Amino acid sequence: LKKPNVVILGAGYGGLMTTVRLQKLVGVNEADITLVNKYDYHYETTWLHEASAGTLHHDRVRYPITDVIDRNKVQFVQDTVVKIIPQEQRVLLEKGELSYDYLVVALGFESETFGIKGLKEYAFSIANINAARQIREHIEYQFATYNTEIEKREERLTIVVGGAGFTGIEFLGELVNRVPELCREYDIDPKKVRIICVEAAPTALPGFDPELVEYAVGVLERKGVEFRIGTAIKECTPEGIVVAKGDETEEIKAGTVVWAAGVRGSYVIDESGFEAMRGRVKVDPFLRAPGYDNVFIVGDCSLMINEETNRPYPPTAQIAMQQGELCAKNLAVLIRQQGELQPFKPDIKGTVCSLGHDDAIGVVFGKKMWGSKASFMKKMVDNRALFLIGGPSLVVKKGKFNIF
Ligand code: FAD
Repeated sequence: LKKPNVVILGAGYGGLMTTVRLQKLVGVNEADITLVNKYDYHYETTWLHEASAGTLHHDRVRYPITDVIDRNKVQFVQDTVVKIIPQEQRVLLEKGELSYDYLVVALGFESETFGIKGLKEYAFSIANINAARQIREHIEYQFATYNTEIEKREERLTIVVGGAGFTGIEFLGELVNRVPELCREYDIDPKKVRIICVEAAPTALPGFDPELVEYAVGVLERKGVEFRIGTAIKECTPEGIVVAKGDETEEIKAGTVVWAAGVRGSYVIDESGFEAMRGRVKVDPFLRAPGYDNVFIVGDCSLMINEETNRPYPPTAQIAMQQGELCAKNLAVLIRQQGELQPFKPDIKGTVCSLGHDDAIGVVFGKKMWGSKASFMKKMVDNRALFLIGGPSLVVKKGKFNIF
């Protein structure tokens, strides 16, 4: 009997979780498993704001994929997925192609700029290790250059963050700790630095508990962040941004603009002709793409409606990992042709948003928390993700132990 051929695209939270769980569930002779990823490392996307600000080295945020996969059972292919042809059960890669019996699409998110002029060209987005490294270097370059110019350009020291959602706030939390270090390093008066956060919604962290939002905004404001709430970015230019509040528009000159206000699923989803909304496919309860019983979609490329709120679940690492775990179990059922497929039921344990390495806000198991307690919890959440994928040895290698 021919062994089924399982191809997993993407080694982020969803794809890697599917792989490590599946390699435990099936024997060498039961299936051929191939994992494809653009890079030969996995990165902790949820830590990228730290690497971007420069508060954590990017090597702390990533580890080789081969550290956690069982190479007797899983073949790793480092390549970029270009297109899926589900009708022919084929995947086109930049350097080759693969065919599959079962496919798991876990290609994650990309920045969504909603057509705002100039954002793609002139703003950075916290998307992956390369982008994080570039943001860190760019900000440092602005500080390093400032004192070398005869005509000083203070806008070099202005950093604009577009979006006061989860990613924007976590990045600001790191920036306010990083900027004093940069000022010391490059002999810059901290009063000359501006960190401006522009948010179109009427509040920061929409959907979060208002008391916790007030705490977070207060902490960041005390450390120098200027919030422009209810203000939309209309355009990004090489010199900065143009914002609008009501009928009034204003130009803000800035050396750095980081766009943290929108994500969408992978463009590969659109390229491949799946029915999708901004690169996210509304999957069935077993995480399958409509019309294709052998194509599973997990993580940020999938969309599921929360029946309690009638709104989609937000794209999170928490959900991506839980989907990966279930997807592996369901694949084992299909490979063995034994048992029944289980539907996906998210188990949302809570959300913790960091405000630098020593402060955070969160709701965990229904309990509100902030300050050092929430910060401790955030590190536990980060370490747990390592543990679920790579066990205790990965936690020892990459874990966060600077608890206080
Ligand atoms: P990813 O983890 O993004 O992985 C996708 C993988 O696919 C990557 O390895 C990538 O290299 C690879 N890939 C992409 N395109 C291709 C291609 N064409 N070919 C080959 N490989 C490709 N969520 C939380 O739950 N809690 C948090 O605290 C939290 N904090 C966040 C902080 C930041 C700064 C950001 C940006 C996000 C945060 N999120 C958080 C959201 C979370 O990171 C995502 O929901 C999660 O990463 C989605 O997992 P995924 O497996 O779908 O994709």
